[in-house]
Amino acid sequence: MPGVDVAIIGSGGAGLSAAIEARHRGASVLVLEAADAVGGSTALSGGVLMAAGTSLQRAAGVEDSATAFYDRYLALNRWSVEPALARALCEGAAEALEWLIELGVQFELIPANSAEATPRSHMADGAGARIARVLELEARRLGARILTGSRVTAIEPTGSGWSLSHGAADARLEARTLVVASGGIGASRELLDKYYPDAAVHGDRTWSVSAPTCVGDGLLLGTELGAAITGENQGLALITPCFDRNFEVVPPAWLVLVNREGRRYVDEKMPYSMLTETTQAQTGGTGFAILDEASRLAWSPTDLTHQDVVSMDWNRDSLAANARDGKLIVADSVRELGERAEVDVAALEQTLAEYNAACAAGRDSRFFKDPAWMRPVSTPPFYAAEVRPCLVALTCCGLRIDADARVLDTCGAPIPGLFAAGETTGGVLRQYGGSGNSISNAVVFGRRAGRGAATSSGA
Ligand SMILES: Cc1cc2nc3c(=O)[nH]c(=O)nc-3n(C[C@H](O)[C@H](O)[C@H](O)COP(=O)(O)OP(=O)(O)OC[C@H]3O[C@@H](n4cnc5c(N)ncnc54)[C@H](O)[C@@H]3O)c2cc1C
Repeated sequence: MPGVDVAIIGSGGAGLSAAIEARHRGASVLVLEAADAVGGSTALSGGVLMAAGTSLQRAAGVEDSATAFYDRYLALNRWSVEPALARALCEGAAEALEWLIELGVQFELIPANSAEATPRSHMADGAGARIARVLELEARRLGARILTGSRVTAIEPTGSGWSLSHGAADARLEARTLVVASGGIGASRELLDKYYPDAAVHGDRTWSVSAPTCVGDGLLLGTELGAAITGENQGLALITPCFDRNFEVVPPAWLVLVNREGRRYVDEKMPYSMLTETTQAQTGGTGFAILDEASRLAWSPTDLTHQDVVSMDWNRDSLAANARDGKLIVADSVRELGERAEVDVAALEQTLAEYNAACAAGRDSRFFKDPAWMRPVSTPPFYAAEVRPCLVALTCCGLRIDADARVLDTCGAPIPGLFAAGETTGGVLRQYGGSGNSISNAVVFGRRAGRGAATSSGA
């Protein structure tokens, strides 16, 4: 039976980072990838990486530190992540970014947003595809082997390591140590039902943008080996009107979001993860996006939203088509709109009257939305779309690890020779209000896992 020092399950950001570090320590490395292509969700991603104390921040005159990042990270996640993991993430992210820059990825610092007063999100030129490609080239250059079309289906301990079954022909492989880097559970309906019910509750409307091979194999295989899991019901499910399966990170800020009680519940320009959380907290876990005819006509399919992207859902053509199809509620008066949407009518009328007055005054004294994105809702017909946090971009439930990326059993003890990193793990990520923590997580812990696995393999 063929054997290697380190076997790695998954060729996303975490698996490839692990492969590079393990090769640097002289271990023989085989990466097994279920899909026919390398890269996983990392390659599909926007390529935004969050880090503090970076060369790009310094060049832009931004003062920042891992400590400030850590404090903010814990506060925004309400101390519900594992502090040791969060600290490792915040301390390691800048180094991970500089490492990617050295390998050939170029980044741009994204300006601050309302959840992140200090700019910490760095966007890769060429997005996630570029990050994955650069990592793949480096891993191959160093001599790591990558086998695509090789889904790992079983793992057994051998006493001196692990025996893996992989690929359609159930080939066997022996490895001294193992890194599980198989991504999240987004593409498994069954696992979403079980481990991310807040997203799955929307039934057929719930869908995931992750790589289709991210079906939670790491979580299932790991638990069979005695690993603990953590991060249940955590993830990022973006809000969407469910018109079509359009991947839009955030709706345009000129919409007015109200709950079933007819009241606004958020500054519509909030970062996406905050829109998810505040919407989930409303009655029924949904909100209603309200607009009028003047706003519909004002937005063409090529206009940019406040996130500098065009909106596939919220432009005049798409809105007209969805109104015709009955997916967007239309009414000649606010009263009728409230009745059709089953939103409290009197409260909705009051809310929109107040909102229109705020638009005229140029000041949102309730939520302090940027006046540049405030448009009155006064020209009939009026429109309402129910928005649901059901577009799964990221899942945060997975194997429990320590700061050295060692997988922990249900008693909290490391399972010898078993490492994990990235979206297949839990405890590091929750609903941070910024952007880019998941790729940081994959690279920071992928590198740690690769180093640890190489060392424990005795290579
Ligand atoms: C569209 C999109 C945009 C995103 N944008 C951002 C962003 O800008 N910033 C950010 O921080 N996060 C973003 N995310 C999330 C982020 O990309 C991922 O959480 C992160 O890249 C996960 O990296 P990973 O290495 O853990 O997993 P992945 O990159 O998903 O890699 C896991 C790999 O494991 C493989 N695999 C699964 N099961 C098996 C098996 N049994 N055997 C062998 N191989 C297996 C999969 O095929 C996959 O290739 C985005 C996600 C998506 C989908």
